[in-house]
Amino acid sequence: MKGSAATSSWVLVAAIAALAAAGALVTLFLFDPATHGFYPICPLHQTTGLLCPGCGTLRAVHQLTHGNFAAAWRLNPLFVALLPVGFWLVARELICLATGRRLPGIVTRPIFGWVLVAGLVAFGILRNVPISRLMAISH
Ligand SMILES: [Zn+2]
Repeated sequence: MKGSAATSSWVLVAAIAALAAAGALVTLFLFDPATHGFYPICPLHQTTGLLCPGCGTLRAVHQLTHGNFAAAWRLNPLFVALLPVGFWLVARELICLATGRRLPGIVTRPIFGWVLVAGLVAFGILRNVPISRLMAISH
């Protein structure tokens, strides 16, 4: 009985998260962050002019919702590259909630977390050096 109540709570949380995500996607589809000013501004970019690893993500999502994969890649290639991993993690949790069956994880060892952190830092540095403009990892 207790497990069933806990599962119901997680289903409710998942449903609310799904609704919030759908609302955010619809907003990003309808209103381009490049032309509408109500989206949050990156404090690092605003104060220093530097691009953080997340800069361009909202604009990239806008482009993806319109099917413009190349434009999204130019805005934030790391985000686009990590999307399949994010989809898998969400799908894995939803499948577990629906069936109770735990599917194999991608990130099962601490080393993957460290590699991700190192990749974020490296991406954040590389996209701010002038050569990155030639490699198209900055916007
Ligand atoms: Zn930023």
